[in-house]
Amino acid sequence: MTKTIPPSSSPAADAAGRFFNELPLAPAMLATLQQLEYLTMTPIQAASLPVTLAGRDLIAQAKTGSGKTAAFALPLLTKLNPRRFAVQAMVLCPTRELADQVTQEIRRLARFTDNIKILSLCGGSVMRPQRESLEHGAHIVVGTPGRIMDHLERGSLKLDALDTLVLDEADRMLDMGFYDDIAFVVKQCPAQRQTLLFSATYPEGIARLARQFMRDPQEVKLLEQHKENKIRQRFYKVENENRLQAVAQLLKLYRPVSALAFCNTKQQCRSLLEVLHAQGIKALTLNGDMEQRERDQVLIQFANRSCSVLVATDVAARGLDIAQLEAVINVDVTPDPEIHIHRIGRTGRADEDGWALNLCGPADRNRIINIARMMHIEPEWHDLAALQSSDDSALVPPMVTLQILGGRKEKIRPGDVLGALTGEAGFTREQVGKITVTDQYTYVAVVRNVAREAVRKLSAGKVKGKMVKVRALED
Ligand code: ADP
Ligand code: MG
Repeated sequence: MTKTIPPSSSPAADAAGRFFNELPLAPAMLATLQQLEYLTMTPIQAASLPVTLAGRDLIAQAKTGSGKTAAFALPLLTKLNPRRFAVQAMVLCPTRELADQVTQEIRRLARFTDNIKILSLCGGSVMRPQRESLEHGAHIVVGTPGRIMDHLERGSLKLDALDTLVLDEADRMLDMGFYDDIAFVVKQCPAQRQTLLFSATYPEGIARLARQFMRDPQEVKLLEQHKENKIRQRFYKVENENRLQAVAQLLKLYRPVSALAFCNTKQQCRSLLEVLHAQGIKALTLNGDMEQRERDQVLIQFANRSCSVLVATDVAARGLDIAQLEAVINVDVTPDPEIHIHRIGRTGRADEDGWALNLCGPADRNRIINIARMMHIEPEWHDLAALQSSDDSALVPPMVTLQILGGRKEKIRPGDVLGALTGEAGFTREQVGKITVTDQYTYVAVVRNVAREAVRKLSAGKVKGKMVKVRALED
């Protein structure tokens, strides 16, 4: 029997957001969950935990980040007898990285009972230390199929006390050609056991595994969000003292050309600006105290892609219309879910995808719950500590804004500036971006690596037959 959980507003989806204390879990486990701030269950947890805690086999289909680890770790830990020094649970993962992540998550969930030994057994490390660790006894092993098979063949791993077998990311294991290894390993497990299979997709190989190795499995399936929803929303837990630093971290990871960062107060905007500048990130802010001219200048730089981040409060951002916005960052979560929806609706426009990245402190919990309810979503939690940007180079906007003294009053038109740059100065059209003429100034975006030369040539030449003063708006 398959139970399918639709992505939104249905009774089944409402199972998500239920509290863990509705489950038959030990008080100590509930306390751990509370400590970890796992207050409500994710949809896949809500759908699978009643099944797995009852001891049944399960096939669960859900995408990354949906909280699958706890969905298998809780039943496995609940059954575990710490006084019995034998491998009672085994988790197979496709890669060392995933095995390490699973190991860490189980360790966190297991901290209410000391003396539970969890061992990671992956290829790429020497066998001997692993063998020695196994000799000292482990309760849970997490590993890749090939290495687990090696240990079984050499007799360093014994599975006769095993009562829970987990196949995590089973589709990826199959993609990587692990079918035979998995089959070998599963055959070494006692017939009397609980088998849990987790997968993001459901290819034929999974059905084959299930038919061969599972006993009347219950199936739980979490459907994807609708495709037309182009805003991908992610939630990150932060401590308040790391919040501003986390914004820089997110920017360096997602590397948007243009991002809008919302703060709840003007003071927070100022503080964030300082932090970002210290990191060499080109950020500007808008606030109500600015003159119209300053405000225009900020918006022009942001819109012509020469500023990576615009930091603003809701009031300051009112009426702002920016076409191309790769990301909205909620530096502070707003108490009003409608404002939240409005904020993130600024990204993911037209045919572009957009990121909505939310930094959530301990005090923001209820706000997130309200937002999730209103949007009919299950917050997709991601780990900030796990964010390692592969590209640690500075985040630099592609364009630089040049400011020309002289505007409408001098009857300058965009064509005059474009003509000056592509004529005698010798630049190509592609090196010139947006041109904006205001009353007193004209702003032109040029590709960053020709900016200095463009200032020099414009200053030396003429715009509309006149010498002009030009400077780059760079700190
Ligand atoms: P998956 O295996 O589905 O990709 P994980 O089990 O790795 O997802 O969980 C994703 C993230 O969500 C982890 O950082 C985990 O700590 C967190 N998480 C899991 N369950 C909950 C919950 N009920 N409440 C809050 N955070 C959770
Ligand atoms: Mg996982």
